[in-house]
Amino acid sequence: MSYIYIVAIKLEDHSYLETLESFIFSTFHLKTRRRELKINLDDAFDTNRVQYNSSLILRQLITKPPLNAEKILGVLDVDLFIPILTFVFGEAQLKGIGAVVSTHRLHNRFYGLPENTEVTTDRLLKEAVHELGHTFGLIHCLQPKCVMNSSTYVENIDQKSAEFCPLCQKSMKVEKNGPVNRMREFFSLGRDK
Ligand SMILES: [Zn+2]
Ligand SMILES: [Zn+2]
Repeated sequence: MSYIYIVAIKLEDHSYLETLESFIFSTFHLKTRRRELKINLDDAFDTNRVQYNSSLILRQLITKPPLNAEKILGVLDVDLFIPILTFVFGEAQLKGIGAVVSTHRLHNRFYGLPENTEVTTDRLLKEAVHELGHTFGLIHCLQPKCVMNSSTYVENIDQKSAEFCPLCQKSMKVEKNGPVNRMREFFSLGRDK
């Protein structure tokens, strides 16, 4: 059995995590587990930008992953960046094991609007599925409603759905049913499809 591990790296409000976990399960058909992991955020802090370098966080997140980890998703609430962009909602390793996502710019209050937990949760689900999609080998999709459509601004997140379009869904299947997983499926179901 392999799991998608969820690491709350630095998160004041943990109330999103339960919804996030059940949504991840229904999307990827992989069980989730929470993992405590000490990540030194100071190492990723850029004093000039007053933001955190997501690549440096990701690097710490994927060191010594549990043996049964299919993926590891770090969730936090600080402002993330990568050097070429002013900010990012998250970052993932393409076809890798790790992804991080931040709620920082997903809150309405960040944009001076009244806070709405439902809206924040909805955005977090989309961004988490998007970043995990990258770890399963998916690249950005041009379908406006597809969750793999790239989001530059929070409005873009609101415009897309939390689902993969049929084409991305198909690529996901191919990726997940690669040689290793096919073998795993063979043994667990007793037959290959
Ligand atoms: Zn992306
Ligand atoms: Zn798509």
